[in-house]
Amino acid sequence: SLRDHIHTDGSLGYFQHSFSVYDRESRACRTPGCGGTVARIVQAGRSTFYCATCQK
Ligand SMILES: [Zn+2]
Repeated sequence: SLRDHIHTDGSLGYFQHSFSVYDRESRACRTPGCGGTVARIVQAGRSTFYCATCQK
């Protein structure tokens, strides 16, 4: 469940990883050792954030 992923210290470790590129257009990718830049694409009215370097 959702609650199972909330750490005892209150952090959302599971979600921090999942949304590492969310809402970070043109900012540095957070993936260790990547060095890429986050880009945003819009498909069917939805914004998608991704790192082209990671997804090669
Ligand atoms: Zn990356």
